[in-house]
Amino acid sequence: MKRLIIILLLPLLFKTATAQVLKKPIPDKLVVLSFDDAVVTQFTVVAPLLKKYGFGATFFVCEFKDPPFSDKSKYLSWEQIEELNKMGFEIGNHTQNHTHVTKMDSTRFTAELQYIEDKCKEYHIPKPINFAYPGYDTSPKAINVLKAKGYEFARAGLDRTYDPAVDHPYLMPSFTMLANNRQAIYDAFALAKDGKVVILTIHGVPDIAHAWVNTPPELFEEYLKYLHDNHYEVIAMRDLKAYINIDKALQLKPVF
Ligand SMILES: [Zn+2]
Repeated sequence: MKRLIIILLLPLLFKTATAQVLKKPIPDKLVVLSFDDAVVTQFTVVAPLLKKYGFGATFFVCEFKDPPFSDKSKYLSWEQIEELNKMGFEIGNHTQNHTHVTKMDSTRFTAELQYIEDKCKEYHIPKPINFAYPGYDTSPKAINVLKAKGYEFARAGLDRTYDPAVDHPYLMPSFTMLANNRQAIYDAFALAKDGKVVILTIHGVPDIAHAWVNTPPELFEEYLKYLHDNHYEVIAMRDLKAYINIDKALQLKPVF
């Protein structure tokens, strides 16, 4: 009898847990745009296009070593990052040196996060609250550091949708936009429904620093026009807080 009651109550218990994580239901056609690696075309090409369509986005910045961050034909300057913030975009943390979390102890990881936070402070940018894993490398040992540093979301790769009711906020999946995966991106857009969010990871548009993650500008604008014409809501990662109760979401089990 007891067992039967538990079985009957299970869907209700699940619904309650979901309701606690979600402040309100995730609407269909919700897309998060995120841009990694502080590539200069994110300021010269991407930002004006996003403004044209009224879209939000998060820029996960770092100071790459190879080619060096000092090469301003390839990378954003901190003045441009400051300008992106002033334009209303979100600045997120991608570590100082693009170091994979699997290759750092917690002291080094904390320092790499702190460097970007200090730079943001210097350029009057709010402290980053969202993180993107360099090289999409995740590690259970990163969790405590991210928590201690007050991070709310951390984005990985994985090429699938984000289900806020199930996925731990420090293991947010995303789809990677490339020069040659047009159909995969349109297929991904179609998955933004039934409580799932589609998060995109984009690098340079074009990417002259790392050619293997290039997105051609014409293709990029084609996607933006599609999202606009088909009434998608395109937001920054921080805007997910309107839907997600972070404290409750952090209690979800991280599945590596
Ligand atoms: Zn990166």
